[in-house]
Amino acid sequence: MNILKSVHDQVVARNPNEPEFLQAVEEVLESLEPVAEKHPEWVAAGIFDRLVEPERQIVFRVSWVDDDGQVHVNRGFRVQFNSAIGPYKGGLRLHPSVNLGIIKFLGFEQIFKNSLTGLPIGGGKGGSDFNPRGRSDHEIMRFCQSFMTELWRHVGPDTDVPAGDIGTGAREIGYMYGQYKRLSNTHTGVLTGKGLDWGGSLVRTQATGYGLCYFMEEAMKAKGKSFKQSTVSISGSGNVAIFAHEKATEMGAKVVTMSDSDGYIHDPDGVDLELIKEIKLVRRARIHEYAKEKPNATYTQGCTGIWTVPCDIALPSATQNELDGDAAAALIKNGCFAVGEGANMPATPDAVKQFLENKIIYGPAKAANAGGVATSALEMSQNSMRLSWSFEEVDEKLQQIMVDIYKAASEAAAEYGDADNLVLGSNIAGFEKVATSMYQHGVAY
Ligand code: NDP
Repeated sequence: MNILKSVHDQVVARNPNEPEFLQAVEEVLESLEPVAEKHPEWVAAGIFDRLVEPERQIVFRVSWVDDDGQVHVNRGFRVQFNSAIGPYKGGLRLHPSVNLGIIKFLGFEQIFKNSLTGLPIGGGKGGSDFNPRGRSDHEIMRFCQSFMTELWRHVGPDTDVPAGDIGTGAREIGYMYGQYKRLSNTHTGVLTGKGLDWGGSLVRTQATGYGLCYFMEEAMKAKGKSFKQSTVSISGSGNVAIFAHEKATEMGAKVVTMSDSDGYIHDPDGVDLELIKEIKLVRRARIHEYAKEKPNATYTQGCTGIWTVPCDIALPSATQNELDGDAAAALIKNGCFAVGEGANMPATPDAVKQFLENKIIYGPAKAANAGGVATSALEMSQNSMRLSWSFEEVDEKLQQIMVDIYKAASEAAAEYGDADNLVLGSNIAGFEKVATSMYQHGVAY
């Protein structure tokens, strides 16, 4: 880094103890160096300095009472990172690992991802260090209501529209929306991922996983490859993983692995998706139950070994930094030719470096998993128009958006002299629209 070194140094000094945020910023700034060279007016207007500082960070207490009457206190977050091209938009993560640095990394990535969709949405993210695991429905409901009792004053259909993420699915969105409606006395599109009877969009549930497959199919087509007759390894067994499995299988692939945070299953016959849905969505149980019911499948405790299972295509869809340099080396050695990120930042910088050096078809998260937020934006459009589109209509729009994202990222990569480098291409293509907007809005003195 040269022109952007001072921006980088300032971020490091200002945000100690936030390694995931720094990791995300470093990757983006490295990609943007040639853009800074080409646009001295953006450097002079402080666009890069402003880009790495959230517009607003809200941290709040969330107290709630468990089924035994005991009081618990969690911490809630909403980082409203950048509203240059539209209202803040990004999910709410409920997981014990959540802290301000994690939410900032996710919010920062969201700026570029949302811009890449071509839709008018800014970047934000939120959540809490609440652990939903093992909690009853009533406990989840009380937590979600308490969380929204503070959050509602900061969000709105034209201000900030949160959605789901790890630990926040249809049930949680329902409880949060109910509380928002009670407090605000309005019925508006303030959250996405809503139930179909009260403003939700068809395809939103499937969108991230489906979109990931549409994006990767397009990227692979350019290199004469396809999901057809390929072996696929997927990590995670949540919303993204399940619908990536569904679409990859529909496209002719065989998915042989899935995981949760305890371990992974390998089924050489192909992972039975209906059984996974039953275990994870109905029973809300652990994935090791799968191996008990499928004699040819094995269960392995621990998550990292999943990438040693031979596959043609890997779709990491669980969490950040789940695929490290050793895992990348194992995938490459076993002949894997494509990696598409369903999760946000699942590959470590070392892993990404190896993918790029070995000419693996690599779809970075901000491009490859943008289908979820794109469909959320389509949900917002339907809410504003008070209309709902059919499954086919939304799915068709989603496919087109993913093809367009691939086109924008690959064209930007080629323009900046490193064709096929979709990390570079998506960072630049996502950034340019945001930078142009910030520049045109001027600086508030
Ligand atoms: P879910 O909560 O539905 O599923 C998450 C899955 O990942 C679960 O199988 C979970 O296992 C596993 N997991 C979570 N944390 C860890 C961990 N620390 N180590 C190993 N495994 C873990 O979340 P989603 O499917 O919605 O999200 C998955 C990823 O996709 C996240 O990175 C999210 O930010 C990203 N994403 C999600 C979008 C969406 O539309 N939902 C949109 C774009 C990106 P367990 O059950 O044991 O917790």
